[in-house]
Amino acid sequence: MRDHTPKSWRRAAPMQLLACLLIASASPVSALEIEFDYTYDTRGFFTDLATGAPRIDRRALLDLAASHYSGFTDTLRAIAPAEGDQWSVSFLHPSLGGPGVTLNNVAIEADTLRIYVGGSPSAPGVLGFAGTGVNLQATGSAAFVDAVMTRGQLDTTGPDASDYATWGGYIWFNASNDWYFGADAAGLSPGGPDFLTTATHEIGHILGFGEADSWRAQIDPSTGLFTGAASVAVYGSGVPLDRYGSHWAEGTINVRDGQMQETMMDPSTLFGERQLPTALDYAGFADMGWQVSAVPEPETALMLLAGLALIGLRARRTGGRCSDT
Ligand SMILES: [Zn+2]
Repeated sequence: MRDHTPKSWRRAAPMQLLACLLIASASPVSALEIEFDYTYDTRGFFTDLATGAPRIDRRALLDLAASHYSGFTDTLRAIAPAEGDQWSVSFLHPSLGGPGVTLNNVAIEADTLRIYVGGSPSAPGVLGFAGTGVNLQATGSAAFVDAVMTRGQLDTTGPDASDYATWGGYIWFNASNDWYFGADAAGLSPGGPDFLTTATHEIGHILGFGEADSWRAQIDPSTGLFTGAASVAVYGSGVPLDRYGSHWAEGTINVRDGQMQETMMDPSTLFGERQLPTALDYAGFADMGWQVSAVPEPETALMLLAGLALIGLRARRTGGRCSDT
């Protein structure tokens, strides 16, 4: 479970436009499906409590967030309990609206993750958090147990893990924030965090970013740098992480759609900014075992490096920091 807190204010550094192209490779075989479940949205974050009607705009943004992972093409085995099969997992109530939730023998389709979502007011600072739950257990046929524990992926646990899979997870959002619920980045304002950014980031944790054994396996114990091959190819060296090893280091810059921006999977996001997955973010997912179809080619990575040095210099010169309120 990781939180996602707003960082302190700083003036925006001028962004250099770079003519870097992301080269997407072959078309997906079976795209990852992420389905959201609102069963535990009991405090009105995605549902109008007066009428029971869904808050369609917010739910549509969750689907938009999930679409950033639709280029992942792993084949995930269905969790389909038959007679004699049993599985369960427990997690925090996603609206903090009652005792923890325990799922028993839920069916999940192939190539699909299910994420239970909700929100409630809490102390300012934290935007949201996500997790995959605890006490994941399965009994029954060997194939069923394997489907629950690994979705048919190999080498998902231990210090030599090279892949990752999950049944799904949960996300809680802090309703106390003055969220921007819009798809158009033009509507962002300095007063509020971007819901789309936070939702996409939290889904990333459920997909194992900063959490998976296959992520941890690639952190160099002596330097603390992330040394996954795809990430190193994009970044040009081992990638600095935050102090927990759960995110890229605060302020790590990379490229998205030809523009440099702060990575989505660094610990926090400025209010009023949108930070969707950069090439480095996608490379991190590829390194932990996801089949990602949008990792840049090596020659692109070299161009990125040249851009990184330039932007780093500008940010240091012009980017003053003040404390947030
Ligand atoms: Zn995070």
